[in-house]
Amino acid sequence: MSASTPENIVIIGSGPAAWTAAIYAARANLNPLVFEGEPVGTELPGGQLMLTTDIENFPGFPEAISGPELMDRVKAQAVHHGTRVVSELVKQVDLSQRPFTITPNYSGAVTAHTVVIATGAAAKWIGLESEIRLAQQGGGVSACAVCDGAMPFYRNKRLAVVGGGDTAMEEAMYLTKFASEVVVIHRRDSFRASKVMANRVLTHPKVRVLWNSQVTEVLGDEFITGLRLQDTVNGSTSEIEVGGLFVAIGHTPNTKFLGGQIDTSEHGYIKVAPWRTSTNIEGVYAAGDVIDDYYRQAITSAGTGCMAALEAERWLAHHGIGEAPVLETGESSIAKAEV
Ligand SMILES: Cc1cc2nc3c(=O)[nH]c(=O)nc-3n(C[C@H](O)[C@H](O)[C@H](O)COP(=O)(O)OP(=O)(O)OC[C@H]3O[C@@H](n4cnc5c(N)ncnc54)[C@H](O)[C@@H]3O)c2cc1C
Repeated sequence: MSASTPENIVIIGSGPAAWTAAIYAARANLNPLVFEGEPVGTELPGGQLMLTTDIENFPGFPEAISGPELMDRVKAQAVHHGTRVVSELVKQVDLSQRPFTITPNYSGAVTAHTVVIATGAAAKWIGLESEIRLAQQGGGVSACAVCDGAMPFYRNKRLAVVGGGDTAMEEAMYLTKFASEVVVIHRRDSFRASKVMANRVLTHPKVRVLWNSQVTEVLGDEFITGLRLQDTVNGSTSEIEVGGLFVAIGHTPNTKFLGGQIDTSEHGYIKVAPWRTSTNIEGVYAAGDVIDDYYRQAITSAGTGCMAALEAERWLAHHGIGEAPVLETGESSIAKAEV
């Protein structure tokens, strides 16, 4: 790793997208280098799955697998095939000239012919100590209903959803399949969500809305038992018994370190070509939740991580760099991609 010898491929991030990209790149003899990040608040190397317990929907684990264990295993698989790992956050990149320059927090800058950005999108949390503690220990607090809502733990209980946008509406509707009641807690007196989504929630017989309310404490030591609420208008406090809390107040794509060099959507998600992971800069690919405000799942992140590595591999092969074999066009639809 030196500024004078460009890397074939640098992968930034450490969730399912980054490690899958690394597995593919390592197996293609590209000797990938991964910057896996550092612990900062709820952002941990290993990504969002480090904040959850049982993963029941990742193929291959019929008995479920814990989020941290799954991430340990995919990282180990990438390292086993020859991936090198730097446990630092990338603080900036220079994509204006080739090879690209990647600068981490502490060690020296590296240059690279191709870059995969797989830095995810941080789920926003309310920010309470009790909330994060229960989320980390599998105590009934989550930021993803589609991921966790179907677990037996949440069945036939009163579940709370915090938020007022489309995501919160989707989460609330999804939870009506399992909950005895869904209580949507919102700080204001009307939803920000689209009218259609809001109406669906407001007219659902299992849903109740607590307007002008915010959660100030999640109650329970090992498992959630209830919430302490504050009225945002008159400041009065109350408590409600719940068997689960789903925080649905949005995500922040981790793209700040790119300094605006990559095109993003109005919400900050990196724009990629249709059914590709290529960005507006040739040789720079993006994968996982940082490009995805729609599915936000481990398996879709892993899928786009695979795509990014294959596209980078083909770009390198096309330019005669690295050891990537030149694949016959027509071998797969992706092999026909322009590099
Ligand atoms: C509570 C919860 C439960 C979930 N449960 C499930 C589930 O059961 N099943 C499922 O399929 N999905 C689940 N998800 C969604 C799933 O976690 C995400 O879709 C998936 O982790 C996204 O993967 P990713 O590779 O895009 O990156 P992420 O998992 O978001 O990880 C990216 C990581 O990259 C690192 N990083 C960020 N910036 C930098 C930088 N500048 N330099 C270096 N590194 C950086 C950080 O460590 C960050 O954590 C859950 C999400 C949450 C929040």
